[in-house]
Amino acid sequence: MAALLISEVGPRDGLQSVSATMPTADKLRWISALHDAGLREIEVCSFVPARRLPQMADAAEVVRHALTLPGLTVMALVPNLRGARDALAAGVHKLSVPVSASAAHSLANVRMTREDMLAQVRAIADLCREARTGVRLEAAISTAFGCTLQGAVDEDEVIRLASACIAAGADESGLSDTVGYANPAQVRRLFRRLRAEIGVHAGGAHMHNTRGLGLANCLAAYEEGVRTFDASLGGLGGCPHAPGASGNVVTEDLVFMFEAMGVATGVDVAKLITARGPLMAGLPAEPLHGMLPAAGLPRGWRQPDPARA
Ligand code: ZN
Repeated sequence: MAALLISEVGPRDGLQSVSATMPTADKLRWISALHDAGLREIEVCSFVPARRLPQMADAAEVVRHALTLPGLTVMALVPNLRGARDALAAGVHKLSVPVSASAAHSLANVRMTREDMLAQVRAIADLCREARTGVRLEAAISTAFGCTLQGAVDEDEVIRLASACIAAGADESGLSDTVGYANPAQVRRLFRRLRAEIGVHAGGAHMHNTRGLGLANCLAAYEEGVRTFDASLGGLGGCPHAPGASGNVVTEDLVFMFEAMGVATGVDVAKLITARGPLMAGLPAEPLHGMLPAAGLPRGWRQPDPARA
């Protein structure tokens, strides 16, 4: 049994932040390859109007494919109630709603105030309950560690928002370093406060590697008891409203770190590297990141059977 959950966000966070649109056939091959490597939660798309994000126009088709992969939790990002309705109709297992801790980022990213977003979380939670589908709802507190538009973000506000999201009906609330401002001391402090405030509802860590601290921040979160980590293959990703914020934590490097430490992820590092194939085929002009894929596995590396019980 894996000791933690690596949640792959490349097909959503990654693809929506690059300008090129990945052909659907390559997306489906990529998602299958990620699943084959052992990933058991993948954020496969976001449900937003196609005119805003043409990269996600095939969302329903992508979900349909992902639902055929055994044991996979199929996750989608939804910015509002309308997106949630579409996602539920498509049959996803888990919804992620981004709630910005930064007032400025909230307006820029979803054109809503933070209070408006809380109302959306409440409405979406009600919708999930009425649908009785067992769909889980995550409120991801974005720009929790700082914001390119507003600078520092008040930590009390972050904790207040996370707590308000749970009160509004979300199942879990995690913290996102949307623009790569976080440092390990801050990560420890905020996740400790989050767990003290909302206990079992405390969600995962979504770290970016913009300033090279992605892995250090994940390790800090792990040491605070966090057991769900978002990452994207090849570090694809960023935020359209955060200039220079390219790069989620690289899945390959993150899995390697934990496996080298003896922490089971359920993911096969070698197969992850293979999964870069369909990604590169679908986005040939996009640079991919990652130290492990560049350097290769260490001599004598033997990963314990990723499927070990
Ligand atoms: Zn992100």
